[in-house]
Amino acid sequence: MRFTDGARAEADLLVGADGFNSAVRRQLAGPDEPAHDSGYIAWLGITEYSHPRFTPGSVVHLWGDGMRFGLVDIGRGRLYWWGTKNMPFERSSTWDGGKAGVLDAYSGWPDEAREAIRVTPPADLLTLNTRDRSFLQPWGTGPVTLLGDAAHPMLTSLGQGSAMAMEDAAVLAQHLRHAPDVPRGLRGYEAARYDRTRTMVEATRSISEFEQSQGPVRRRVRDGYFRWMSHRKLVGKLEPALTFPGAGILPGTDERTDR
Ligand SMILES: Cc1cc2nc3c(=O)[nH]c(=O)nc-3n(C[C@H](O)[C@H](O)[C@H](O)COP(=O)(O)OP(=O)(O)OC[C@H]3O[C@@H](n4cnc5c(N)ncnc54)[C@H](O)[C@@H]3O)c2cc1C
Repeated sequence: MRFTDGARAEADLLVGADGFNSAVRRQLAGPDEPAHDSGYIAWLGITEYSHPRFTPGSVVHLWGDGMRFGLVDIGRGRLYWWGTKNMPFERSSTWDGGKAGVLDAYSGWPDEAREAIRVTPPADLLTLNTRDRSFLQPWGTGPVTLLGDAAHPMLTSLGQGSAMAMEDAAVLAQHLRHAPDVPRGLRGYEAARYDRTRTMVEATRSISEFEQSQGPVRRRVRDGYFRWMSHRKLVGKLEPALTFPGAGILPGTDERTDR
């Protein structure tokens, strides 16, 4: 490994767990790998919060025309909120509307959403371009591999980015422990993770497009879909993402990775 300060290092194993703009991934995918823009901007905040229409302990998701707003009670009187709005990348990447601009975007929305924006200190309000990358395979060669967002950056609609990184770590540890050498351990880890993480990247992208539906027809389809689907069916659809199928019993051991 060569570092920007000129230092060099050698190791038996390199795990690129260096996030969305991974330098290790760049070695594999090349410097020009494009990021895929989601087509919407995201605003986020954490604030002290209470509102007569917001039940403590709850999570609320409000749906609009190419826009959404989420409120999540994170305990001790604090709220995490996020808002999304469809916007071409040229505008979202240079957006500098500040708190007034966010309030303006949510004009006419329920007061519990607007109140969350109003009480957030401007310095705690973040603006993000939401992006992912197309699925990359393979993740490594020789003693090098990728993990987490470096391997499979995804949009946030299923809330699975960190979850997948933790699953990667569990599977990687299992494979390294039982493989005859590092490269074979890494290739076993990668093979065990490709299908699940590819499904997650692709499903998150398509759910995200559906959620951001804009225009009367697309919006009615989206709203009807969520309104009329039974709770049981909805939970059933989310269950695969929220259940870690693991790699079953590893050869030669009685250890399972699916707990
Ligand atoms: C708005 C938003 C909401 C989200 N919600 C959820 C959710 O509800 N559930 C969920 O599971 N996930 C969620 N995620 C996704 C989650 O945050 C990421 O998937 C997760 O942080 C990825 O973890 P990681 O360790 O792979 O990468 P990162 O968290 O990005 O960590 C990478 C680390 O590498 C360091 N690094 C980078 N480059 C170098 C370098 N050259 N040298 C040294 N160090 C370097 C960085 O400083 C950083 O500490 C959300 C993401 C966003 C943006």
